[in-house]
Amino acid sequence: MSAGSRAAALFETTFAGAPEGLWSAPGRLNLIGEHTDYNDGFALPFAIPQRTAVAADPRSDGRLVVVSAERPGLVDTASAGLAPGTVTDWSAYPLGVLWALRQASGEEVLGGGLSLAIASDVPPGAGLSSSAALESATALAINDLAGLRLNRHQLAAAGRLAENRMVGAPTGILDQLASLLSRPDAALLLDCRDGETTPVDLGLAAAGLAVLVVDSGVQHRLSDGGYAQRRAQCEAAAEVLGVRSLRDATLAGLEAARERLGDVLYRRARHVITENARVLSTVPLVGQGELRELGPLITASHVSLRDDFEVSVPELDAIVEAALGAGALGARLVGGGFGGSALTLVPRERTDDVAAAVARTFAARGAAAPTPVEVHPSAAARREA
Ligand code: ADP
Ligand code: MG
Repeated sequence: MSAGSRAAALFETTFAGAPEGLWSAPGRLNLIGEHTDYNDGFALPFAIPQRTAVAADPRSDGRLVVVSAERPGLVDTASAGLAPGTVTDWSAYPLGVLWALRQASGEEVLGGGLSLAIASDVPPGAGLSSSAALESATALAINDLAGLRLNRHQLAAAGRLAENRMVGAPTGILDQLASLLSRPDAALLLDCRDGETTPVDLGLAAAGLAVLVVDSGVQHRLSDGGYAQRRAQCEAAAEVLGVRSLRDATLAGLEAARERLGDVLYRRARHVITENARVLSTVPLVGQGELRELGPLITASHVSLRDDFEVSVPELDAIVEAALGAGALGARLVGGGFGGSALTLVPRERTDDVAAAVARTFAARGAAAPTPVEVHPSAAARREA
């Protein structure tokens, strides 16, 4: 059953009635451009076929009642006074969106309350942004239910604010923009400074290529310290370099400040500078149909994330190595790192070889082999019913 049917069914059993509507939003895969978003930089994500659905209905008893097929129990809290700190479990994601939309509109949006039932095909903590899928579907639902008429950039901003302030994860805007603005068969070039999005037609299938995602099985949590520490290090490096953000730094400036930065900040900044350059080199290659040439850039991204940004884990390095050894054109960790998934760009005729090589690597480590999932660039968030 699709996430949409499951959310609708969960709504009916929980609330004994039909919802006013059903909305869904996809997870995303970031082809290249990692840890660049909060540095005002560039990224190139696309929406994946896996989606999170929310069935929703306004209430009149002043309660916010939220259930998820992926979580036990039911969250029931007061609509009045919703603010950071009032919800601390997973419901901080959807209820944080309601709070953020109240902030954005200056109105007591859905003050009478809200019933929300959630179901998802996006694996959480796998680097595929189940969090943005949940936020974006919820934002679209509230936008429609409350007649807010906010645009998709504003809804993305609400998702980010929810995640930053209600959940306490200092993430950038990449995931929400990808979930809300992607197009089928295209990636989305994001300029995270001004939020500008430009669709870039990919034509992966026509080029005989597949993108496979391999879950390392290592769970990451963005509210844990590593991600926040990297952000702080990037801010510190920008300050030493005298730039507004690392987006504005150059390799020449970096070399000139090497001693003042010290080894760690130097390498953190080098990752961001080179990663932005890799994203910008990717776009013309895609435009010229030279998709195979993306492979080395993708692998260089992994090496930089591993050595300079230090957000990889041995399981992800092993997947990358196995995939490259079996004929992948490129491979890298995706998402924030510290676990989650790797992506591999593979000639279609080599996908079985790559899957087998990854399976052998896991077997050698005594771990159950993940099944690589092929993802196609898919549609953005939408109302389903
Ligand atoms: P990612 O976005 O990479 O999947 P995050 O740590 O950012 O990982 O977000 C995962 C968290 O989002 C989960 O731990 C959970 O709190 C929340 N979440 C995502 N999807 C759902 C869902 N379907 N039901 C309940 N909570 C969810
Ligand atoms: Mg997330």
